[in-house]
Amino acid sequence: MKRFRPLAFVLTGVLAIAGGAAAQAPPLANFDPLTGPRSRLSKNWRGLAELPSSTEILVLAGHADSQGIGGAGTGGAAVDLGGAAPMQPGMRDELYWNLLTAQAVVALGQQRGLAIRFYDPPLRSIADGDDPRTNWSVGKAHAQAGGYALEIHYDAYGPDGVGSGLIPPLHRPPTRLDESLALAFGPYPLLFRDGLGAPKRGIGILEIGKLEGQLEASLRDPRSRNGAIQAIAERVVSALQRGLEQGLKSAPAIPGLAATPPATSNPSPNSPPDGGRSGPQASRPQANPGDE
Ligand SMILES: [Zn+2]
Repeated sequence: MKRFRPLAFVLTGVLAIAGGAAAQAPPLANFDPLTGPRSRLSKNWRGLAELPSSTEILVLAGHADSQGIGGAGTGGAAVDLGGAAPMQPGMRDELYWNLLTAQAVVALGQQRGLAIRFYDPPLRSIADGDDPRTNWSVGKAHAQAGGYALEIHYDAYGPDGVGSGLIPPLHRPPTRLDESLALAFGPYPLLFRDGLGAPKRGIGILEIGKLEGQLEASLRDPRSRNGAIQAIAERVVSALQRGLEQGLKSAPAIPGLAATPPATSNPSPNSPPDGGRSGPQASRPQANPGDE
């Protein structure tokens, strides 16, 4: 039988190559090994407007000013379903991870030469969403001045969550930066849930992933935590770089963005996800509708 072995090896090699290609096929396209399911909602927009590479990026941690009041963020499956202790007493787990992720994104972005910084409100509970110290107010001012404001979130577990993706800001037509983040994480429709508080103020919401399963386990395990956070930060920063003018010029793959399927309208955006100040919890008091 020895003489047949070479042929067997060739066939095995061909099958292995074919199998490798098949592994990238659509069945896995909406699931990421690290961050889990991506948003399957329709992308009814295309980010065409270019931003200068010098655009200042402000990173915010979702729910950083709404602990203990409506819209504190998801507690995560480990705590809410598994009975685990919160990562930090008095703080929803989502905020814990939002803070770590936002800070890692800013540190890495600064290393890469981006004009990027983090804003953390001085108080963890600010009842009035329009108080000048809130994420909303600081992010809105930043966006109005021409910068890009991005609020980091983890989505709700279970059926309340949609998955990873970008909810684009609404104060101007979508940009290449929005397009790049949606390509890396997944898209949410414009006017998701009729326009959440942050996007209406010009702040993009980036849902990293649902706080459950492998993603949450990777974050909670001290042995894998730093690697997971760094991998997520790398994905965010790379998307930011590609989305800015400089990245576009050096990345020939970008024209492929135009091939992104445009908006097959499939409006199921009224399901109750955690766009931020919502999730399984009640939303903020009436003064602040449109929690995310
Ligand atoms: Zn959130």
